[in-house]
Amino acid sequence: MESIGVLLVAKVIPYLEQELNKRYNLFRIWDYPQISQLLTQHATSIRAVVGRSNAGADSHLIDALPNLEIISSSSVGVDLIDINKCKEKGIRVTNTPDVLTDEVADLAIGLILTLLRKICESNRYVRSGNWKCGDYKLTNKFSGKTVGIVGLGRIGTAIAKRSEAFNCSICYYSRTQKQESKYKYYPSVVELASNCDILVVACPLTKETHHIINREVINALGPKGFLVNIGRGKHVDEPELVSALLEGRLGGAGLDVFENEPHVPEELFELENVVLLPHVGSGTVETRTVMADLVLGNLEAHFLGKPLLTPLV
Ligand code: NAP
Repeated sequence: MESIGVLLVAKVIPYLEQELNKRYNLFRIWDYPQISQLLTQHATSIRAVVGRSNAGADSHLIDALPNLEIISSSSVGVDLIDINKCKEKGIRVTNTPDVLTDEVADLAIGLILTLLRKICESNRYVRSGNWKCGDYKLTNKFSGKTVGIVGLGRIGTAIAKRSEAFNCSICYYSRTQKQESKYKYYPSVVELASNCDILVVACPLTKETHHIINREVINALGPKGFLVNIGRGKHVDEPELVSALLEGRLGGAGLDVFENEPHVPEELFELENVVLLPHVGSGTVETRTVMADLVLGNLEAHFLGKPLLTPLV
């Protein structure tokens, strides 16, 4: 398979890059200052694209690769891949569902606890020597709160299960009510936000869910409510979020993802009631390695004519 051209469009863990390099004729997009140069020289030899949450394949790239057969993403979200174009052209798409569910749900709970119990702020309080001047201020309890989940899928359900262990009540919004679910369903995000203490965003980014967390939702959550986003940054209208936090219309926010990563609104840096993470939901050695194996397994299955492990298209 060494002659098969594979284009890597994002930096991935060294293990995945090395394995791709061993098995295929690997082109790294960052080695070419101009994409046009890469395409002129190698477009016809590229049969696979490998991406992740921060880089996929838009319609221009897909059209520019005449022999593209498969796009394999080391992520569950495929919002940066033009899925309709892939369907139209018969290009297969794979992602890495399930294997990262626990990791992202663990992080969501970590974000909630860090936000409500002000763990980062308390840590800073000790390190700065301020403890000697007095006790740290009181924070908020997580156990027993109502957690509202936008998108009760694999990750949303895993967050719900973990929250149940904290004696939380769970409610959710999805396009469809899950008949098998015991959790309370609300038919709109505004109703969900009005009826929970902590709103967790865990749905895929689509045209419908772009800015699903808008001014109305933020106001419904209110000054005692907390927003946690482990989905995608574009779910949240970020300028609205920033002004709600600055004006005290929202209790706080725990964010793993941002509208324009890696740029984060600097107004948030000084706020004590926000926790900011650099999109690390699945970012552990263990999980990224399993995700890498799934990418490699899907490519191998495709090129050997075997069934794909996690086909999306
Ligand atoms: P999933 O199993 O497909 O679940 C998605 C859920 O969202 C489903 O319950 C779906 O239910 C719901 N949904 C879809 N469209 C919706 C809409 N328009 N409005 C409301 N709900 C909607 O996906 P997953 O594996 O849980 O992953 C969810 C997302 O998490 C991914 O797409 C990705 O963007 C994000 N993620 C982030 C990280 C990170 O590092 N922060 C890591 C992994 C994943 P209905 O079909 O009934 O609406």
